Amino acid sequence: MSSPSSSIDISNSSDPTSNGGAFVVSTHVISPSKNKSTIDTSSTHFRAAVQGAKIMLENLNTCVGGVIDLESEDMRDTAKRHVKALLEMLAGHLMNVDMTTFARADTQEDNLVFVGAMPFKSLCKHHLLPFYGTAYIAYVPKDKILGLSKFARVVKKYATRFQVQEDLTSQICDDINTVLEPHGVGVIMEGRHTCMLCRGAESPGVTITQDLKGVLKTNEILRKEFMDHVKFSRHV
Ligand SMILES: [Zn+2]
Repeated sequence: MSSPSSSIDISNSSDPTSNGGAFVVSTHVISPSKNKSTIDTSSTHFRAAVQGAKIMLENLNTCVGGVIDLESEDMRDTAKRHVKALLEMLAGHLMNVDMTTFARADTQEDNLVFVGAMPFKSLCKHHLLPFYGTAYIAYVPKDKILGLSKFARVVKKYATRFQVQEDLTSQICDDINTVLEPHGVGVIMEGRHTCMLCRGAESPGVTITQDLKGVLKTNEILRKEFMDHVKFSRHV
């Protein structure tokens, strides 16, 4: 499909670090900004999505007996707000994070770096309902390290996509492992799923997923340190 002339396309613009290392989003509908994506509501794709959401609302209303006034002041723009919210929650599909690394001289195999208690919000691809929680990352550097804030950015990049928590955890772990080639890396995520809370089992249970690689998987002491840091950081 061709892009509308009114849309903002920065896919060929500048390098990913030009925004101070912030997220750079490149798309026809979402434009980049440091902390929050801007959505081009005049794009044909956006308007088509809103139209689709309106049809869904109308059919849902029919399913419940047509008792809802979809043209009321409260609901007139609900379809539009719904699409904007979803796009904001999917911006990670178009994000690039500057993963510039720094050299590190100390190459001991037991110096753990831990970055924890990073909140995330994501969208369950099975139900299109949010899940949210906390991410914890640890790695043992070999000869490269990454700026600490970049870990939160990597979490956001993968979280703001159509996701399941298991894949989200592995994608973050794989990305860090590829970029840093560390002695080991581990990611633990604790998530609460509104699709589990508001429907089906209607349970507020916590889902914990993990991916451990290298020494974080094979070295029991390091793995325990990681778990201890996770527990400690919950209370900081
Ligand atoms: Zn779900």
